Formats: sequence, structure tokens, C-alpha cells
Amino acid sequence: MIEQAKSFLQEYYGFTSFRPGQEEAIQHVLQNRNTLAVMPTGGGKSLCYQIPGLTLEGTAIIISPLISLMKDQVDALSSYGIAATYINSSLSFEEQRDRIHDMKRGRYQFVYVAPERFDSSSFLSTIKQIKLSLIAFDEAHCISQWGHDFRPSYRSIVQTLYQIPNLPVIMGLTATATQEVIRDIKKLIQVTDESVVNTGFARENLSFRMIKGRDKRDFILEYLEQRPNESGIIYTATRKDADHLQNFLSKKGFSAGKYHAGMTENQRKQVQSDFVQDEITTIIATNAFGMGIDKSNVRYVIHYSMPMNIESYYQEAGRAGRDGEPGDCVLLFSGQDIHLQRFLIDQSMMGEEKKKDEYQKLQSMINYCHTHMCLQQYILDYFADPTHTEPCGKCSNCLYEGEEKDMTKEAQMVLSCVKRMGERFGAGLTAKVLRGSSDQKVLQFKFHKLTTYGILSHYTEKGLTQFINFLTAEGLLSPGEGRYPTLKLTPESVTVLKGEKPVKMLVETTTSEQEIDYDVD
Ligand code: ADP
Ligand code: ZN
Repeated sequence: MIEQAKSFLQEYYGFTSFRPGQEEAIQHVLQNRNTLAVMPTGGGKSLCYQIPGLTLEGTAIIISPLISLMKDQVDALSSYGIAATYINSSLSFEEQRDRIHDMKRGRYQFVYVAPERFDSSSFLSTIKQIKLSLIAFDEAHCISQWGHDFRPSYRSIVQTLYQIPNLPVIMGLTATATQEVIRDIKKLIQVTDESVVNTGFARENLSFRMIKGRDKRDFILEYLEQRPNESGIIYTATRKDADHLQNFLSKKGFSAGKYHAGMTENQRKQVQSDFVQDEITTIIATNAFGMGIDKSNVRYVIHYSMPMNIESYYQEAGRAGRDGEPGDCVLLFSGQDIHLQRFLIDQSMMGEEKKKDEYQKLQSMINYCHTHMCLQQYILDYFADPTHTEPCGKCSNCLYEGEEKDMTKEAQMVLSCVKRMGERFGAGLTAKVLRGSSDQKVLQFKFHKLTTYGILSHYTEKGLTQFINFLTAEGLLSPGEGRYPTLKLTPESVTVLKGEKPVKMLVETTTSEQEIDYDVD
């Protein structure tokens, strides 16, 4: 059957060879094994279910939360002469009924549906009656409550499916999944270890950059001036920021549209299609934008402020360079971003457990902003991607031309100060104590009596806070789990205190000892 699959690749798509992971995933499905394919964006996941769908007898059901992409996929298949359709809420009741009727007669080889379709009894009774070739969950991370985009309706489909008598082979496909999410999906759709095809998440064509201590608007102006005709997305954390920034850029004469959930559906549709058709070059958007937008020539994605977690960041940044050409991913960081994200989690309707989980994910995002390791490597480590071990050589940390400075002594001072303060306070107050501030809170807790009080008084408070953040990113301090980070020592930090492990940090070559404020934020 794999021979037939190969000939379909040629015949229908005109491709000469499979991309990494495709053949393996297809083979598993053709051998009737439930399969999970984890491949980066643009890796070619669609073929992994389309070719088995062509090879196996019956109708393939593709479940996707992305209504806007269904039509594109169906149009593409139809253009190859393949019988495909979609059924979702964008159709009139009559159209939906007609398509279900055609489906019952086995007219389609592919049917794309949104998760809600499984609430419809006529749909359910139809799939029970017909020959099914396979069921594919696109964006399968939405099944998992550990995923950043969990959809309960998605998860409940799996239970419904197990009750249908003619259940065919099941596939899950995703580009963003932590090990936890992968485990969860495997359990749910009953995929064995052997049938997980994980090509890793690395996107070789993306370069990541962290910008701190710059005026964000100035940076963007300069950036856009250098790229007059390139398409890009600027993500803001709030609608208000999107409004202001779009207004600002339009006034400066840039071709910039905006997109957020506060706009009407028509307005959003218009902007989206203008962007996809290159009528506007830059789109300023909240995270409401992107899911289901198929634009391959996005050259840059700028984050105006830090998002809530690495999953969202990588998914949003990953909208750059889907065509395989270079993509630039810039994060403009300022300390304020952290407060905003904490506030958003705090105000949300999530339960306590979930909030704790979100604070922890947020901390990994904060650490990304402070780490000195390769940014791409940091992200791949976060997803525990086993396929990637080398620094990328093109992120802002890889390219940083600093000097490695031994900061072991200073780190020991910070760590012992944290210990003496009872491991109950955050970076701000710790920096004040180290600097020797006579802040009221310092005096109130009698921290001016500690031996570490004022021990690093030749640093600025900001510099010290940044240094503490760096130590946190290095795993030498743990920020705790709750709403307010309270610094605690870690097993790693004990080795530093004992002098068994040095602490090295990149600093700008020109800075003299007295002025180290290595991170002007
Ligand atoms: P994903 O869903 O993983 O983001 P797609 O399935 O949309 O990726 O595929 C991305 C692009 O790669 C599409 O334009 C597709 O036609 C192309 N593609 C997929 N498989 C191959 C292949 N084996 N050879 C060449 N191009 C491919
Ligand atoms: Zn790098």
C-alpha cells in the first residue's frame, strides 16, 4: 500500500519525495494503527492524513477547530479532482443537510468538520452508517487539558467515537505539544509509543531575537522602515495596545491594519483578507488573530510584549516563514509585561490548580526573556524536543558579542541574601537589601541588620533585579508557585553556594566593574 501512497504523492500533488516523518506516519495509519504526528508548522501534516484517506476505502473525517482553513483545504483537494467537502456553521441549514445527505451516500472521500458537529444527531447517525477510512484530529493539542488551547468539546468527541461500531483508525496531528500533552493525547486516542511520529519542533528558518531596554515604538518604526514591502504581524497583549499602535503606525504612513476580538466579524474578515492578499503589509493584532490564517509569506512576527507562555509564543512566532524562507521573530520585553500577564491569570476564571499551572508556564516564559542560552534551544528544551541539541547560531543570544564574566561571588551573595531573608520575598525587595536601601519595608523586616545588607551596593537596583532574574532563568533560584513570586533556593543553588559550580554571565565588553548594569531595561 505504501507504493500506492507514493504514487498518489506524485500523481495528485506533484511531489517527488516525502518530507521527514510523512512516510512513517502514513505507514502506521495504513497498517491500521492509531497514530500521533508531531511536526512543525509547515512540515506537511495535511498529507499525513490525506494520502491514507486516498488509499483506504471509505470516507475520512477530519476534525478541525479552524473553520476558516476548512474551505481552503477542501478547495485544494477539489482542484486535484478529489471529492471533498466541509460541514460547519458557516453554511445554511439546507446546505448542511444536503451535504450530510451526500455523505450518507458515500459521495465524499474527505469531510472536514468542526468539533461541534458531533453534537448533531443526524451527523452521528450518518457516520455510524457509512464506511469510514479514518478519523483525524487536526490541532490535536486542543484535546488535552494540559494544552494551551484546550477545548472540552474536542476532548468529549473521543468518548463519543469509542461508541460507534464502525470506528476506523484514528490520527492526531499537532505542531505544539509538550511531553505532557503528547502523553495525554496518546492515552486518549490510544496511540502506542511506536506509533508516535515526532520530527521535533525546530524551525530552522526562524531567527529569534530578544530586545530589551529600547523604546518599543521607536524600535518598530525603525524596523518597519527597513522592510517596506514585507508582510508581518505585530502581536500586542491587549486590544487597547493594538488600537494605539495601529493608529500610531498609520499616522506615520505605514500600511497597517488591526485585528482583535473587539471588532465586528465583518471588520475582522475584511482585515484578514486584505492581509492575506497583500493589500496591507503589517497587521497589529491580539492573540485572537492567527489560528486558521494560511499566509505563507509572513516575514516577521514581533511581540510588542511578552505573551503568557512559551506554547503561545512559539505558535504565534511560528506564523513567520511558513514558506520555508527566513522568518524573523522579535520579542520586545519590558518588566511591565510580567505584571500584566500575572494580572490576566489572576483575573481569569480558572480554578486554583490551573492557575498554579499557568503561573509556572508564565515563569518559563519570563525565563526565556532572561536566559543567556540559545533562544531556539531554550524553546526546544521546553518542549523536551529530543531531536535538537546544537545552538542555532543566529538568535540574539548566539550572536551576542559579549564577554563571559565570572559572577560566582556575586551569585553567592545574592543566594545567601535570599536565604537570610527567609526565602519569602521577591526579586524587588531582595535587590533593595543587597543594594542597601533604607526602604520602609527593608527596615520593617529588620533586613538592614543582615550581613548581606548593602553587600552589592555598587550595582544599580535595576541591575541587581536583572541579575536575580538571570539567576532564576538559570535555575539557581525558584520563584515559587503562586501569584506572588517568592524566591527560594534550589538544589542547584546549593552547589553554587558551596563553590562547586561557577556562574558565568555574558556582559557587554565595554562595561567597567563599577558600572555593571548589564541590562539597561
Ligand atoms: P502543516 O499543516 O504541517 O503546517 P501543510 O500540510 O500545510 O503543513 O504543508 C505545508 C506546505 O508544504 C504545503 O504547501 C504543502 O503543499 C507542502 N508539502 C507538504 N508535503 C510536501 C512534500 N512531501 N514535498 C513538497 N512539499 C510538500
Ligand atoms: Zn541561538
